[in-house]
Formats: sequence, structure tokens, C-alpha cells
Amino acid sequence: MNAIDTVAWFVYLLSAVMFVIGLHFMNSPKTARRGNLISAAGMVIAVIMAFVRLFVTGYRSTTAIVLLLLGILIGAVAGVVSAKKVKMTDMPQLVSIFNTVGGGAAALVALNDILTPQTAPSLVVLITAGLGVVIGSVTFTGSLVAAGKLQGVKFLRKLTIPGKGLFNVLFIVLTVASFVMLCVQPDRRLLWAVLTTLFALVYGLVFVIPIGGADMPVVISVLNACTGTAVAMSGLAIDNVALIVAGALVGAAGVTLSILMAQAMNRPLHSVLAGGFGGASAATSSQEGPEGTMKETTADDVAVQLVYAEKVIFVPGFGLAQAQAQRELADLGELLKAHGVEVSYAIHPVAGRMPGHMNVLLAEANVPYDELVDLDDINPQFSSANVALVVGANDVTNPAARRPGTPVSGMPILDVDQAQHVVVMKRGRGRGYAGIENELYFEDNTQMLFGDAKAGLQAVIAAVKELLA
Ligand code: NDP
Repeated sequence: MNAIDTVAWFVYLLSAVMFVIGLHFMNSPKTARRGNLISAAGMVIAVIMAFVRLFVTGYRSTTAIVLLLLGILIGAVAGVVSAKKVKMTDMPQLVSIFNTVGGGAAALVALNDILTPQTAPSLVVLITAGLGVVIGSVTFTGSLVAAGKLQGVKFLRKLTIPGKGLFNVLFIVLTVASFVMLCVQPDRRLLWAVLTTLFALVYGLVFVIPIGGADMPVVISVLNACTGTAVAMSGLAIDNVALIVAGALVGAAGVTLSILMAQAMNRPLHSVLAGGFGGASAATSSQEGPEGTMKETTADDVAVQLVYAEKVIFVPGFGLAQAQAQRELADLGELLKAHGVEVSYAIHPVAGRMPGHMNVLLAEANVPYDELVDLDDINPQFSSANVALVVGANDVTNPAARRPGTPVSGMPILDVDQAQHVVVMKRGRGRGYAGIENELYFEDNTQMLFGDAKAGLQAVIAAVKELLA
């Protein structure tokens, strides 16, 4: 190893350590910002080192350098603009788009390593780069479809694939077969690399298209793990320690998160990955609705129920984030607590549109952490609550999850219906993410307060203040 390689190795190791420290700080919302900055600094150091190495070892083409700088400029501008502009509620789509570009970039790096050498690459390079191509390509198309579905692109949400998983199996077999041929016939690597890429790209589509309903969070997390793995494979192929470590960290974090989320949603991970878990039945179930009628209430009525309650549980969901009403909810909580009411916030693991969404939102509104109670701990408490105030949450409270045959079947829900009185705040009769009617809204002990969550909470706060004056 010459001097510059040794320096580069140590610098890449430093960036890897910074990634790990950054991840550690991301454990808590209090230190997460610092964690992000440390990891970003690690990445900047690695990129600068790559350029220094390029100049010291003698670069081959000025065009390549210009293209690299242009790529960095475009990427940096796109990153800054999207980070500033994209709303919190649209963050999962952004993550999916990042997965798309990450997977695509890893696949291109790996393809370059297979195709550009004059002589056939070694078996080790063929295997690692080949895996980078496969995983990166699947991630590219899979994440693109996931982003489209999350964005609510209608034709994607309705699109189904016939054959109950037959195409999944077909394209897995074709992808694996061409990958094996790539390794055993390196002389015909152009043909096999192109076929491997094409089959993997199509597999990404047939893998994600049938998945719908409430399973999307797990899929995004799996695709995130795939991005990391593809990057690590490309790192192995080009012998870059920073890429290997960064990719391995993302891969490991993604796998851990996928398993935890699948467990939290009571979904066998393999069923989600086999495709179509819960998605197919969404179309049929969405036609049917529960029997009965919804009972409307007013902000004044809700205020009376809250003020005379001993124990109130708030149930925030995606609608709270959409309305940006977290501060109003926190203010209402403070008012009630000052009046002697016991207040807690029920946090479902997939409420909102990304893992931890509600925690981040409520932390932003300075709700004390000890008032945020996880699903397992809050569920036994609903039966002793006088009022459960559901603010823009839908799927995570749907009792339909308790019986088979619906898109949310098997997903653990917040047992809101066990509370003495349930008040649901939402704009109208819109359905939740899974696209089905919520049976909770038709229960005898449920009342609906229609309207935007922010305006509704402001009206309730005003009414509570009037009562307490
Ligand atoms: P849902 O998406 O099921 O429902 C949200 C409800 O909020 C809607 O029914 C809507 O009804 C209401 N709403 C929307 N805007 C407003 C507003 N401004 N004011 C008041 N209400 C509003 O949310 P949940 O949190 O219950 O469930 C999350 C769903 O998202 C789950 O199915 C989950 O699997 C899925 N998901 C979760 C991810 C995660 O990681 N957390 C990622 C991707 C998907 P209306 O239109 O009538 O107002």
C-alpha cells in the first residue's frame, strides 16, 4: 500500500467511525440533529478524500472530473432544496426517492466494474459487483413504485399483478439464472450483465406493485436495507472501505427496522416480501362499509366531556401531521392537566407516514416524553379512560384489524373503542391509508367532530377555556 492509499484508508475509517457515532446520537430526538451533522461531516470528509486521491494518483480524464463535480453540484442542490421544501408528511416519499437514486447509483458503479475492464474480472468481483447490480436494480424500480404509491398516484395504487406471486417467482429465477451465468461465463459478461439488470429491474416492479394497504412502511424499510446492501457490494467491488461501512450500516439498520416494524404490525416479514400481503383485498374491502350511522358532535360538547373527565387519552395520527396541529394538541393537554385531568398520548408504531413520526411531531411541540405511551402500554389503559380523543388517526384505530380478510387484518391497533367515550376529529368521511372504512366511527360510544384538526382543536381549546373561566 503506498502513502496516499494508507492516508485514504485512515480517512475512510474516520468517516466510518463518524457514521457510527452519528447513528448513536440518532437514538434520541434530543441528540438526533447533532447525529445527522456528524454523519454528514463524515460523508463530506470521505468525498474530499476521494478527490484528493484522484488528483494525487493522477486522473485519467478532465471530462470525468467535470462530470463528477457537476453530479455533486446537482445532488447537493437537489438535497438542500428537498430538505427545506418537503413537508414532514411527505418525508417517506423523499426517503423512497433517495432509495431509488442510491440503489441506481450502486447498480451503475457495479456495472461499470464488470463492463469496463479489458480482461474478465475475477470471480470475487463478478459476485460482489453482480450482487450490487441485482440489489441496486431491484431497489431502483421498487422504490420508484413505492414513492408513487405513497404520493397517492392513482393508477399505481389500483395496479395489480395477476398470477398470485407467479411473476415474482419467475423474475427471481430469471435474475438468479442470469447472475449465475454472469459468474460462469465472464467472457459474455455484456450479455449476462444486461439481462441480469433488466430482470432485476422488472422484479423490483412485480415485487412492490402488489403490496399495499398498511404494509408500505415495512417495504420502504426493506428497500432501504437493500440500498445499503447494494452500496456495500459496490464498495467491495471497487475496494472502498467508506462505501462498505456506510452501506453495511444502512443495510443492518434497515434490516433491524424492517424486522421490528413487521413484528410491531404483526406481519410475517416473509409474507410482506412475497408480495401482495393485504394489498389484494384492499380493492374489494373498500367497496363495503360498516352498518350504522356516524354521530356528529360539536366543539362545545367535546370540551364538556374533556373538562369533566378524570382520564383522557389523545390518539394522534396522520391527519394531525397533515394539519400541523401538534402545538394545539399539546396546548389542550396542558390546559386539561392544569385542571387536574390525567392526560397521555397513545403512540402507534406506524401512525403517520414514517416510523417515529408522531414522536418527532409531539417532541417538536414540547410534549414531555413520559406522556407518550407505546401501544402495548397504553392499550390496557383505554378501558379506564373517560375520553379517547382521536385526532386524524384512522387505520391504527380500526377494529376491522381484529378479524381476518381486511387490508389491515392482523395489524395491532390502539384499543380506542374500549374507552367510555370516543371523539374522532377528522375533516370528513375520507378513508385512511389502507383505503377502508373505519368501523370505530359507527360504534355507539363514538362521536365525530368534523373539520380540519387544527381549527377543530382551536375551537375545543376556546370552549374549554370558557368552561374553566
Ligand atoms: P391514516 O392515514 O389511516 O388516516 C389519516 C386520517 O386523517 C384520514 O382518514 C383523514 O380523514 C384524516 N385527515 C387528513 N388530513 C386531516 C386534517 N387536516 N385534519 C383532520 N383530519 C385529517 O392515518 P393513521 O395515522 O391512522 O395510520 C397510518 C397509516 O399509514 C397506516 O395504514 C400505516 O400503515 C400507513 N403508513 C405508515 C407509515 C409509517 O411508517 N408510519 C409509512 C407509510 C404508510 P379525512 O380525509 O376525512 O380528514
